[in-house]
Amino acid sequence: MLVRVDRDRCIGSGMCVLSAPEALALGPDGQALPVAGFADGGGELTDGLAEAVEFCPVEALTLHSASGGHRIDPPE
Ligand code: SF4
Repeated sequence: MLVRVDRDRCIGSGMCVLSAPEALALGPDGQALPVAGFADGGGELTDGLAEAVEFCPVEALTLHSASGGHRIDPPE
């Protein structure tokens, strides 16, 4: 799967990075970025990543199938 960050929404709270450091990091501009693997569809879902998606304060995170076409979470 891959992770997308809606850069129009992300406020750089860093909560997702604490929950899922295996999948997300803060970029130089202070917004979250998916790390290698999670940016290109090679990442595996972890409990921390599911938490990060659920608790992002501005609902900026979405999980997609490896091809990027199908949104897995939150459900469409
Ligand atoms: S939790 Fe949401 S708002 Fe905070 S850094 Fe992550 S994506 Fe951005």
